[in-house]
Amino acid sequence: MTTLATQNRSKGAGSTPLINVQNLTKSYTAGEVVTKVLQGISFNIEKGEFVSIMGPSGSGKSTLMHILGFLEKATGGHYEFEGKDITKLQDDELAKMRNEKIGFVFQAFNLLPRTTVLENVKLPLTYAVGKGDINETAKQVLESVGLGHRLDYYTNQISGGEKQRVAIARALVNNPTIIFADEPTGNLDSKSGVQIMEILQRLNNAGNTIILVTHETYTSEHAKRIIQIKDGKIIDDYPVLNRRVAHDGETLK
Ligand code: ADP
Ligand code: MG
Repeated sequence: MTTLATQNRSKGAGSTPLINVQNLTKSYTAGEVVTKVLQGISFNIEKGEFVSIMGPSGSGKSTLMHILGFLEKATGGHYEFEGKDITKLQDDELAKMRNEKIGFVFQAFNLLPRTTVLENVKLPLTYAVGKGDINETAKQVLESVGLGHRLDYYTNQISGGEKQRVAIARALVNNPTIIFADEPTGNLDSKSGVQIMEILQRLNNAGNTIILVTHETYTSEHAKRIIQIKDGKIIDDYPVLNRRVAHDGETLK
């Protein structure tokens, strides 16, 4: 059985930060109107960190996450991932990096409909080469998020909390360098939300790097560091001293 700890292979060493952004900007232009969504964002993120990007709705969190996850390009500024200048990459190179390095978890789960839990988690592996028995790998990751008993359920037959755990398993199955979770508890009841935060903390304890996007102070305090943004600018960046530990009293497995 692959544990969450062995999921996280060594990601390399050295002093190069995993993520280095300098003066990142993003604007949208519609006709003559230019909306400045990100207005000069700078920070480093090291391997193994658990960071919350926190700020009110509309502050630019998702936009920032999309740029960090190679889903969108910045308008200006500098972005290095593992020391590599991302701004110079072509779309196909970005897509390859995204498939290999990034796991995404979204508020709306984004699972395939009319498809089983197992098939959803196997999907990222079908693009990867040399992954061994993809059925077995997907099963093991689903077991690690407590869903070993739901493999053949269709995604419309499981609860919201279970859907989000499928999404986490799908994000993990390629053994990504970093996991981005955008408001992952936003569509969940509080108990399911606690379970999701518990899994994210467990993954981070096993060495995974996690960036959580949230507008809620309470949720953000499950991370080890908070980068607070407002109107597309960083207004604070600090370690969480009294970190919340998610525990719902039940062990998923
Ligand atoms: P958050 O995730 O913090 O709620 P977003 O990053 O989604 O914020 O959005 C920040 C701002 O950027 C919002 O004002 C939003 O309307 C605007 N925005 C986001 N995407 C686009 C787009 N594709 N075109 C124009 N404006 C956009
Ligand atoms: Mg958002």
